[in-house]
Amino acid sequence: MSRPSIPGSGLAKGLAVTLRTMTKKTVTAQYPDTQPELPPRSRGVIGLFEENCTVCMLCARECPDWCIYIDSHKETVPAAAPGGRERSRNVLDRFAIDFALCMYCGICIEVCPFDALFWSPEFEYAETDIHELTHERDKLREWMWTVPAPPALDPGAEEPKEIAAARKTAEKLAAAEAQAAAEAQAQAQAQAEAQADPTDPQGGAS
Ligand code: SF4
Ligand code: SF4
Repeated sequence: MSRPSIPGSGLAKGLAVTLRTMTKKTVTAQYPDTQPELPPRSRGVIGLFEENCTVCMLCARECPDWCIYIDSHKETVPAAAPGGRERSRNVLDRFAIDFALCMYCGICIEVCPFDALFWSPEFEYAETDIHELTHERDKLREWMWTVPAPPALDPGAEEPKEIAAARKTAEKLAAAEAQAAAEAQAQAQAQAEAQADPTDPQGGAS
């Protein structure tokens, strides 16, 4: 048999819950007045680094939603040396992603063999017209500037081969420049000494 409830006890319990909740730290962010603190690698939008794109079409073929549109044409590049063969290369005419269809799976970014696609955490690109959600190459390039820098390597990690190659080339160039400068200085000094020495048959010849 249930005990008779004290009149007003329900109200008191409700007020107690309200008071407890009022004094707790809130977890709800009042977006858009407060910007959310997203992890840097959030999947917000995709940026295109056009210079790396070779128009291999892998991303468009692997996209499960078929929402990547690429147009290109072939261009003939003259031979680098006389007697060499002409080469043909793909030139990008259009690269667009329809974010109304995209399901943010990231497959295109994973399969791109040339590091031309990147996630950006930007997410504020809602539109009232669905057609505006198809971002063309210029817009995709703009997103690139919002892509966070890659995390730092572990202290003991092997140097990436691109950086190692660039460093070696820079060192070689610096060494060649230093040698050329030293040779020029030695030559100038020898000329000055020859001009100053009257017993030198070449000294003061000018
Ligand atoms: S994230 Fe997935 S769905 Fe979106 S464009 Fe890339 S492959 Fe297609
Ligand atoms: S996979 Fe990469 S390189 Fe190939 S077309 Fe797509 S973005 Fe360009």
